[in-house]
Amino acid sequence: MVRISLWVFALGLTACGRPGTGLAVAPEQCTAGVRWAVTEGSTRTLRVWLEVPSSATPAWKFERSARLSTVLDAWNSAGAPIRLVPAKSFTTSEIVVLVVDRLPLEGNREAHIHRAGVTHLTFVEGGHIGRARTFVAEHTPRGQPYATTDQMATLMHELGHALGLPHDAGAKTLMAARPVVDNPTPRDRMHARAYYAPTASCSRALSAVTAPSPR
Ligand SMILES: [Zn+2]
Repeated sequence: MVRISLWVFALGLTACGRPGTGLAVAPEQCTAGVRWAVTEGSTRTLRVWLEVPSSATPAWKFERSARLSTVLDAWNSAGAPIRLVPAKSFTTSEIVVLVVDRLPLEGNREAHIHRAGVTHLTFVEGGHIGRARTFVAEHTPRGQPYATTDQMATLMHELGHALGLPHDAGAKTLMAARPVVDNPTPRDRMHARAYYAPTASCSRALSAVTAPSPR
C-alpha cells in the first residue's frame, strides 16, 4: 500500500545541476530502506516511462526511445540487481520521467538558478520505494536552454536518485550534487551495487545539509 506522503529527494533541497551550479551536499549518514525492494538472489525489474509533452523540443520527440535506452542501459550495466526497462505506458510504470520546460525557483533563488532536475520518491510500507517521479528541465528556471548533453546527464543523474541513490560527496561522479560527468563512473556503479547488496545494513540518508557552492 502506498503511503500518502510524497518526499522530495533530499528534503527538497536538492538542486541537481551541472558544473558550477547548484548546491554542495554534505556527506550522508545511514538510514534504512531507501531503495526498491528486491528479493535476495533475484533481479527486480522496474518499468520506466519517459513522458515527452507536445511542448517539448522536437529532439525529445524524435529521440525519445533512443535517449531512454541510453540511460537505462547505463544504469543496467552497473551490476545492481535492478533491471530498468521501457514501460509500455504511464500507468504500468514504476518510474516516470517527465520532460519539463523548466523547474521553479524555490527557497534560495541563487542556489537554484541552474536547477536542472528533481526526483520525488514515494515510499511503501516497510520503507521501500514504491514509485519515483523524475523531472528533467530543458531550460534553467530563468529560461536559458540546457545543452542536450546536460539534459541527458541530468536524466542519467536523476535516474540514480530514482533508484534511491543519494548524492555522492565524490568530486567527479555522476551522483555528485553537481555532476561533471555524463555517465555512471566506476564509483557510481560500485555504490549502486553496494546499495543493493543483500548484506547492506543501511542505506545512505536522504537528508542532506546544503552548503554554499564552492564555485
Ligand atoms: Zn541530485
